[in-house]
Amino acid sequence: MVTYKCLGCEKKVPLTMMGRKVRCPYCGGKIVYKPRLAPTKVIAR
Ligand SMILES: [Zn+2]
Repeated sequence: MVTYKCLGCEKKVPLTMMGRKVRCPYCGGKIVYKPRLAPTKVIAR
């Protein structure tokens, strides 16, 4: 499943919840982005 992330509320938004319009169903934000499949781990030294 393709899951995007809302830039406004930072909730995960499944592509099936958005329908045709790309919009966050939670806050109505129009900016969603696809998070990285492999999150980068930052190791502080
Ligand atoms: Zn949102």
